[in-house]
Amino acid sequence: MSGLNIGVLAIQGDVAENSFATKMALEENGIEGVVREIKSPEQIPELNGLIIPGGESTVIGQLSLVNGSLKQIKEKISSGMPVLGTCAGLILLSRKAKDRVVGEMDQPLLDLLDVKVERNAFGRQRDSFEAEISMEKIGIPKFKGIFIRAPSIVEIGKNVEIISKFNEKIVAVKQGNIVGTSFHPELTNDLSLHKYFVKLVNSKNA
Ligand code: GLN
Repeated sequence: MSGLNIGVLAIQGDVAENSFATKMALEENGIEGVVREIKSPEQIPELNGLIIPGGESTVIGQLSLVNGSLKQIKEKISSGMPVLGTCAGLILLSRKAKDRVVGEMDQPLLDLLDVKVERNAFGRQRDSFEAEISMEKIGIPKFKGIFIRAPSIVEIGKNVEIISKFNEKIVAVKQGNIVGTSFHPELTNDLSLHKYFVKLVNSKNA
């Protein structure tokens, strides 16, 4: 094949930051590929990997549902395409979401990652923070976690691996081809997680 085709879901949120980090990660790993901003469902079938960025999960979910992307994304991930969801992206991948204050949420979700998340688990915008975390299991011992209205993972299924915890809360997980983080790797200049993801995509398409 002539290189990987990695998409960044471009409905709302940290699209440009994720595209940039993914391009850099491809380059630094010496892996050939392109990064595309995904705005319509027709672009989804040819993807080898997808990033669902941080932003506002209700908006990303609702608009993806309406334009038909949600169904296409669900099919692709179910058939093994690697996906990285950060913050709102993690929420969208989950099976169930509740808000720390508002309670159970009825919002469109992909229902692929067997976790229940608590939205805004660390507080609201003013409670955003940075903290050093570790993702030893995937070869990243030290990483700057940027948490912005971040969710935490409050229940996990048996096939879900915990990759990182912060203050007793689960903040990064992996379930086969699905990786989700509560924090925003695209907002640091550390490319480790994007490099890990690009390698995962490459290994499934070798
Ligand atoms: N709290 C946001 C949500 O529920 C996620 C925040 C983020 O992606 N920075 O969608």
